[in-house]
Amino acid sequence: MSDCLFCKIASGEIPSECLYEDELVYAFKDIDPQAPVHFLVIPRSHIASAAEINAENSAAAARCLEVAAKLAGEMGLDGFRLVSNCGERAGQSVNHLHFHVLSGRDMTWPPG
Ligand code: AMP
Ligand code: ZN
Repeated sequence: MSDCLFCKIASGEIPSECLYEDELVYAFKDIDPQAPVHFLVIPRSHIASAAEINAENSAAAARCLEVAAKLAGEMGLDGFRLVSNCGERAGQSVNHLHFHVLSGRDMTWPPG
């Protein structure tokens, strides 16, 4: 999608701190970290949110989860939170599916 921030990040048009990339997904550090470790995993293809995951695009969404687990393992994270805000009311500010991986501090539940 031409006017999407995360499509531009995945294609390299907008710079980011890349942690992992393959043909389906791209992982990079969040620009405004909410924990000592905070990175995002996104599909390269444009999926607007978790509400748009379907049989056609679920392989890319599943790969995002696979990569989140792989990076968390490689980083030796002592627990992590995996979050995908879906819709404005849930706090989604970028309309391209992304999974937050947060770690390095104690987390509370339920979220605010
Ligand atoms: P959400 O609010 O759940 O949609 O998450 C969007 C996330 O994208 C926020 O945590 C932002 O800090 C992050 N973000 C926005 N712009 C950039 C950017 N250029 N590079 C890295 N992360 C970004
Ligand atoms: Zn996009």
